[in-house]
Amino acid sequence: MKSFTLALPRWMPHRAGQHYDIRLTAEDGYRAQRSYSIASAPQREGEIDLTVELVENGEVSTFLHQSAVAGDRFEVRGPIGGYFVWEAAQGGPLLLVGGGSGVVPLMSMLRHRAAAKANVPARLLYSSRSYDDIIYRDELEGLAARGDGFELFHTLTRSQPAGWKGYARRIDDRMLGDVSRVFGAKAMTFICGPTALVENAANALTNLGLRPERIRTERFGPSGT
Ligand SMILES: Cc1cc2nc3c(=O)[nH]c(=O)nc-3n(C[C@H](O)[C@H](O)[C@H](O)COP(=O)(O)OP(=O)(O)OC[C@H]3O[C@@H](n4cnc5c(N)ncnc54)[C@H](O)[C@@H]3O)c2cc1C
Repeated sequence: MKSFTLALPRWMPHRAGQHYDIRLTAEDGYRAQRSYSIASAPQREGEIDLTVELVENGEVSTFLHQSAVAGDRFEVRGPIGGYFVWEAAQGGPLLLVGGGSGVVPLMSMLRHRAAAKANVPARLLYSSRSYDDIIYRDELEGLAARGDGFELFHTLTRSQPAGWKGYARRIDDRMLGDVSRVFGAKAMTFICGPTALVENAANALTNLGLRPERIRTERFGPSGT
């Protein structure tokens, strides 16, 4: 994973959960465009952070990881999206479920919540492959340590360090029940990550009684991943 800060000459405030499209144009005119969620809080003026996972043989993520250097200029369009968004004024409780880089727009929501000093009850269930794959690990721990109503739940699906106290399997119905039960049916829910994780979690939460109209989803990767 790499995070990039983009200075925007015509900055406008985004809503947490929105994304930008980045378009790259090669010297021969070939173009590639991909979407990247905004990781930073809307309260930060003039610039945004994007966090990009290196996808094997991926055109745009490989360029950003291996060729982009500080000072480069990019063609961007945004902020985009009006559905997968949360503003502190909407209240909560806020249930966030993320897998891998799917945590990026959820991080924007948590950074926004902290910057707004909103103490809306919030929980993040975050699935990573291993301890070292946890994105924003220290910052998330710091947010959870503030004691302002945010609680963090990790699951590590491939390997766990000695003494690991979090979950150690893929997100499943029982895990979602454990994490969501305290909020009841009214939780405002955002699920983001690989398609399979998103679909399974949304179905499980609906079966657990959460109101479908309060469950919002965003899929990052191709189906089956
Ligand atoms: C709304 C939205 C927001 C997004 N936000 C982020 C973000 O914040 N951070 C981020 O890293 N990505 C994000 N993505 C995914 C991103 O847009 C690209 O799909 C991703 O970076 C891969 O692009 P690429 O050009 O490197 O790979 P491509 O050249 O498009 O694909 C190369 C190969 O990798 C597979 N592949 C493509 N995407 C993925 C993936 N996500 N996981 C696994 N395999 C994949 C393809 O099927 C193909 O086989 C977002 C997607 C959407 C729709």
